[in-house]
This record gives sequence, structure tokens and C-alpha cells, in this order.
Amino acid sequence: MKKMPMVLIVEDEPAIAELIAVNLRHNGFQPVWAEDGVSAQRELDAVLPDVILLDWMLPGASGLALARKWRADARTKAVPILMLTARGDEPDKVAGLDAGADDYITKPFSTQELLARIRAVLRRRAPEQVQDKVSIGDLVLDAAAHRVSWQGELLKIGPTEFKLLNYLMKHPERVHSRAQLLDKVWGDHVFIEERTVDVHVKRLRESLGVAGSLIETVRGAGYRFSGQALV
Ligand code: CA
Repeated sequence: MKKMPMVLIVEDEPAIAELIAVNLRHNGFQPVWAEDGVSAQRELDAVLPDVILLDWMLPGASGLALARKWRADARTKAVPILMLTARGDEPDKVAGLDAGADDYITKPFSTQELLARIRAVLRRRAPEQVQDKVSIGDLVLDAAAHRVSWQGELLKIGPTEFKLLNYLMKHPERVHSRAQLLDKVWGDHVFIEERTVDVHVKRLRESLGVAGSLIETVRGAGYRFSGQALV
């Protein structure tokens, strides 16, 4: 099941917060409510949400000050912030964006507008949240740099083997049939014999050296990448 995106609502007016929360819940989001900056910080320290809805006018620290603070904090800087502002506060909007908010929405807003804005900031942020680097034990694969290393040593690895390893490392501890691997790694529009998978797995194991034992052959089923082979 797909994880429900978590939305932290920082809003001091319970009626508005409740209305937003109900609408989010009905649309597949998991809302969490904080009435001010202090309780919002407590929520952030516990679990990072996928997006923050931040009211401008709050008791204590303003939304603007909070946006600035969370943008400067390494832990929260990648979490998208959608500011809630009052109608016509044009300078506020600009200041909010300057402080690091991703977007703003003017009160009163429709549910559809709010959902559209939330989905848009989630989409825009998504590429940064994609795990480019995956490591299992001492084996590290960096998809962005196209590098694989074992215990800090770079390994030489062919392009198809790289794609295969990337897929296996991102889906470890489960068996993949040859047909599934062809579909996921080679793409489903090419006609390739299943034996081709065996050839590339063999090459991949050779390239990995000692770490090659992480790729297990599951008789009659396919292959499994297992970090447990290390222990
Ligand atoms: Ca308010």
C-alpha cells in the first residue's frame, strides 16, 4: 500500500485546522495539527512530514519566522512549506517566499485549490527526495554519480550490470523472477531471453568480487539481493 503523505498543519484557529484536516483525511493525506510554533517543532522533532501548511499569523513566533528557521535547519530544510496568508497581503506573500516557503495560498481557499497546491509542491520536491544513493553493508551504489563501491573501493561495472544492481539494491530481501527483472531492468518492450538475466547476474557477481555473494540464486524462482548474507 502506498504511504499516505503526512501534512503538518500549523494553524492556531481550531475551526480552520479541523476543516483542513477533515478534507485532507478524505483525500488520502494524513494530517497532524499543531496550534503554534512550539508544538509544531515538537511534531517535527518526532516525525518529518511530507509537507507543512503554515499559517502566517500565529501566537508566538510568526509563520514567517518559522519558515525561516525550518529552512535553515538541515533536518527540515527539504520539507516543502505552503504558507496560508490573509487575502490581499501581497507583501506578505513575497516575504514568505523569500523566507523559503514553496508556495502560498490565500484564505479563504477551496478544498480543491488547497489539494492542488499541496500536490504541486509534493511533485516539485519529489526529485530531491528520490534516494539516489543506496548502501547495504559496505556496498554503496550512487545512481547520480554512476558509481559502485565496496568498502570504499570503486568497482568497475558495466551499464546493464549497474542498472541490475540498482534495482536489486533498492528492492532487497525479496525474490525477483527472471521475467520480473527483464521487465523492471530491461523494460517490457524488448524481447530478450530470460537466460540473458543469468548472463548479466554472472557478470555482476564477478564485478562485485566478495560482495557478489549478496546476490543469491533462489532455485526455481530467481534472484534475491540479501544483506543478510553479510552477517
Ligand atoms: Ca492564525
